[in-house]
Amino acid sequence: MPSPYEVTPGEAVDKTFDVVVVGAGGAGVAAAAQDGATVCIVEKEADAGGNTLVAGCAFQNVADYQVWDPANPDATTGVCEYNGETYDKATNDMGRLDTLRTILNWSEEPFDETVDTDGALTVEEYDLPNRGVHAEYLETLQTLKSQIREYLDWADAKIAAGAAETDLTVFSTPELHIFQTYYGGLRLSNDHSYWIYSDIDLVRQFVEQIGDAKAWMADQGSIFDWGTTCNTLIGCMWQRINTFVGGTVDGVEDDSKYGCYFAVPINTVLKANEANEVMYRTTAKSLIIDDTGRVTGVNCELYDGTPITLHANKAVILATGGYGANILTTNRSLAQGEGITMAQDVGAAVTGMGFTPLMPLGWADDGKLAGGMGENVIFVSPAGTEN
Ligand SMILES: Cc1cc2nc3c(=O)[nH]c(=O)nc-3n(C[C@H](O)[C@H](O)[C@H](O)COP(=O)(O)OP(=O)(O)OC[C@H]3O[C@@H](n4cnc5c(N)ncnc54)[C@H](O)[C@@H]3O)c2cc1C
Repeated sequence: MPSPYEVTPGEAVDKTFDVVVVGAGGAGVAAAAQDGATVCIVEKEADAGGNTLVAGCAFQNVADYQVWDPANPDATTGVCEYNGETYDKATNDMGRLDTLRTILNWSEEPFDETVDTDGALTVEEYDLPNRGVHAEYLETLQTLKSQIREYLDWADAKIAAGAAETDLTVFSTPELHIFQTYYGGLRLSNDHSYWIYSDIDLVRQFVEQIGDAKAWMADQGSIFDWGTTCNTLIGCMWQRINTFVGGTVDGVEDDSKYGCYFAVPINTVLKANEANEVMYRTTAKSLIIDDTGRVTGVNCELYDGTPITLHANKAVILATGGYGANILTTNRSLAQGEGITMAQDVGAAVTGMGFTPLMPLGWADDGKLAGGMGENVIFVSPAGTEN
């Protein structure tokens, strides 16, 4: 197809920064907003955001002041350490106690790796609670069971006295978040030949540091709803979502996801050093390596063909997101896995490439996002509907 407009490449650009970040999605912008170094963010689209901008805004973390406190089990409010405000505790959605009882009965035997569950999809179909647990998650499971026992002793007494499950303060701990991340991803590989599950160190880092990340963003001007929400969303397994509200930059409030996740940290980046830059419509093409194999920069191209060479004194950070848009998907078309292939081209090892998380939110025939949040949609498999 002929181009709707003519562009001519400009003169080649050659620049040096301490750090070059490829990709201005959530990960790239957060990485760039650390202090102490000159930074350039390279983004192939005309604005920051990536898939992060179309995500469901579900910021999951265990907010201890909103959930059941064994030291003060009948408390109906809690104080948020970050802002000193008092918020109502959240109460259970229906079915939470059943899930806790399932975990309480989870086998502590070594995980049974037998491959005999062709076609299984759910925790029940895989019969995960009876298959046991991988060794590195055993201690988390045992700690979690003792927390659940304490909670159920309290909850069962309340129910015996006439309370409804939905009246009771919700149970939620970091151990539950870690264990649900484990069994939520525990399944057979795509070719059904082996079991896959999350790396516990990464899960722990994610669960234990996510609260600090929220405070770090709020310190810069991002605004969250710290206390009135504690809900869940399709794809999440528990009530631990707080929602964004927006962000304030130089006294001006932007009440959007962009305001919260992008306007604020990009402002931090640009204010930290006048040499810092975000280069939009600039695609990273390949990594530059020196003769020891160390990555020292990135070859890029501006939308008009202008070659841009960026050198990095300290580090190149690849934050180009996933590769979901290689298939029918709800991802934005920008998600092509370019950072992964660029890194592989210079010899990087990759991990978890056989794992693709899927959410039942798209249409199978064109990959478009279904309406609503999933709960007001009926999904019918086009492959066979006799049953
Ligand atoms: C419809 C949908 C709903 C979702 N809902 C949620 C949710 O509610 N909660 C949740 O936690 N997660 C959710 N997710 C997942 C979440 O959006 C992603 O995990 C997250 O945004 C990934 O962030 P990222 O920074 O790694 O990638 P992205 O945000 O995709 O950023 C990558 C950036 O790199 C740029 N880039 C790519 N290649 C190049 C290149 N060669 N040169 C220069 N720039 C490049 C892209 O243009 C993009 O801006 C959802 C995802 C989708 C698609």
